[in-house]
Amino acid sequence: MSRKPLFAANWKMNKLPGEGAAFVSALTELVDRGVAADLMIASQAPMLVELKAAISASPLPCKLGAQNCHWLASGAHTGENSPELLAKIGVQSVIIGHSERRILYREPDSEVALRVRAALERGMDAILCIGETKEQFDSGKSKEVVLAQLKASLHEVPARTESELVIAYEPVWAIGTGLAATPEIVKEMHGAIRKELGALGYSTQTRILYGGSTTPENIPSFMALEDVDGALIGGTSLDPVKYAALIKNGLI
Ligand code: PEP
Repeated sequence: MSRKPLFAANWKMNKLPGEGAAFVSALTELVDRGVAADLMIASQAPMLVELKAAISASPLPCKLGAQNCHWLASGAHTGENSPELLAKIGVQSVIIGHSERRILYREPDSEVALRVRAALERGMDAILCIGETKEQFDSGKSKEVVLAQLKASLHEVPARTESELVIAYEPVWAIGTGLAATPEIVKEMHGAIRKELGALGYSTQTRILYGGSTTPENIPSFMALEDVDGALIGGTSLDPVKYAALIKNGLI
């Protein structure tokens, strides 16, 4: 059974009140409601309610996404978001272990694993991000680093879950730089991730996304690869015209 493409938007710390709803109505005009892909938009927490209303009113197959979650349901964790709260307000998917969280906010693999498990246990999909830094890439350690991150970040995660585990391979040096990885690099890494997921007992249906400076122009070269099942998209996803073009070109 082939895996359905997923084009997941990560808005990071962008967009103001009203802009989320305006984006979804523009996207609804641009993308066919029968599009053969799953979509997801992850906003900042205070925009989730606005985004949920807009997504619910749209015929697009789009999930509501958050950009992180804590592993505890409640408690003294100022600045964090409870997975319980996110699930209760209708969040369906959570990005976890993004390199900006790992590097700027020092989230270790051990916490990432707890966050992934917490999201899945509450019925939300978890998009687990992994990827090597420029330094690690330059020293030829990419595969070693990425597979170690994968294993450690899945430490707490059962192989079979009701909600979906998605992996996003995002080389840190390709994020927001305009320097996307080459299809050769992505092919090799996704193949290695697929193999490791199998060895760890995860389903062959687990989707593996590529992320890092994807555009409507370069997406076909990634989507042509066997183990690329979609993309996690930053900059390009902020503009509905560009995001819609990426989705369209990614399905050719
Ligand atoms: C990201 O932050 O997950 C990302 C892939 O960003 P960009 O597409 O802007 O490189």
